[in-house]
Amino acid sequence: ANSLLSGLPTTIFSVISALAVKHDAINLGQGFPDTEGPADMVDAAARALRDGRNQYPPLAGLPELRGAVARSNARFYGINVDPAREVVVTCGATEAITASLMALVNRGDEVVVFEPLYDTYMPVLELLGAVVRKVRLAPPHWDLPRTELAAAFSPRTKAILLNTPMNPTGKVFTRDELEFIAGLVARHDAYAVCDEVYEHLTFGAVRHVPLMALPGMRGRTIRIGSAGKSFSMTGWKVGYVTAPAALADLVMKAHQLLTFTVAPNLQRAVAMGLDKDAAYFGRLAEGMRSARDWLAEGLERAGFRVLQSDGSYFLVADFSPLGFRGNDVAFCQEMVEKVGVAAIPVSAFYDQDGTDIPGHYVRFAFCKKTGVIASAVQRLQSVR
Ligand code: PMP
Ligand code: GLN
Repeated sequence: ANSLLSGLPTTIFSVISALAVKHDAINLGQGFPDTEGPADMVDAAARALRDGRNQYPPLAGLPELRGAVARSNARFYGINVDPAREVVVTCGATEAITASLMALVNRGDEVVVFEPLYDTYMPVLELLGAVVRKVRLAPPHWDLPRTELAAAFSPRTKAILLNTPMNPTGKVFTRDELEFIAGLVARHDAYAVCDEVYEHLTFGAVRHVPLMALPGMRGRTIRIGSAGKSFSMTGWKVGYVTAPAALADLVMKAHQLLTFTVAPNLQRAVAMGLDKDAAYFGRLAEGMRSARDWLAEGLERAGFRVLQSDGSYFLVADFSPLGFRGNDVAFCQEMVEKVGVAAIPVSAFYDQDGTDIPGHYVRFAFCKKTGVIASAVQRLQSVR
């Protein structure tokens, strides 16, 4: 059948993971950890199944999880939330993003996005009939192009869709950049949808600042988190939305149409996880920082130019110093076949209808065991 989705290709993450299996390559493509998350959460999920937590939970999520999301907002960011009216549990951040955009966007509304962008953003906005205003961040520093961003806002702007810490760049928006964005959102009486799935994965002294915590933004922001990233269990697909009650209500209506509810045993375990102490979240970030350093150092040794990553599971590397003739897609193809390492071409994070898409950058995931990164680095020394 011919439909709005007919032209949508299979997601690059599945394509590259399949290639990695086919060529028995080390998969530094799709972002998933190769270690288990906290054992006490796995136990809690298993116990909940045996306790008979097996029927539909409430539409908005288990009260215990909504309470934990509210506590987490308060203790990390000083955002005070009514768990009964301002939190919605979703099937991963993926559903939360789609539901939030469904909640806000009417056909013809303008939505501002940053490019490079996560692969679900464009297709969902197109399905909703949004007019997308893309603002490109330029490598190697991905600084905020303030003049261009201001020009992308108009009286028809409904929302900005912001991802920080950012996939694939590893950029963490600074408070100063966020204040600039907040000013534009307020001035245009718009909203912000904030994909903050990597909120607990920032490195060194860099800290995640939620746009929602800035003055004037509390009533205009939908903030999205993911247990997959905060607890290294990407297969669980438990996400959570924090939003002012009027917006949370709309997100809940979208959620009602999309999935209605989320596995109750996993919700119970995630509620327990969110109450973990600061030491847990500190270790999570520190482990990831050390993995980033191993990979960055190995890539530099292999001849790549590695761009700064301050957060997320990812770093971007420029392969042009290697002298490869061909674009990033060809490079990834050759790397998986001949070197046995899989990564994602950064051009996949651009609207394919655009022009001048950068063609010599590759995204590597470092959410892997040290030994796996070491083996990948060893293979990559022969990439030249
Ligand atoms: N947003 C971003 C930026 C992501 O990288 C991902 C997946 N890694 C998601 C959303 C989806 O998260 P989830 O698995 O919770 O649906
Ligand atoms: N978000 C993950 C990544 O960027 C992949 C998620 C997916 O496979 N859809 O690699």
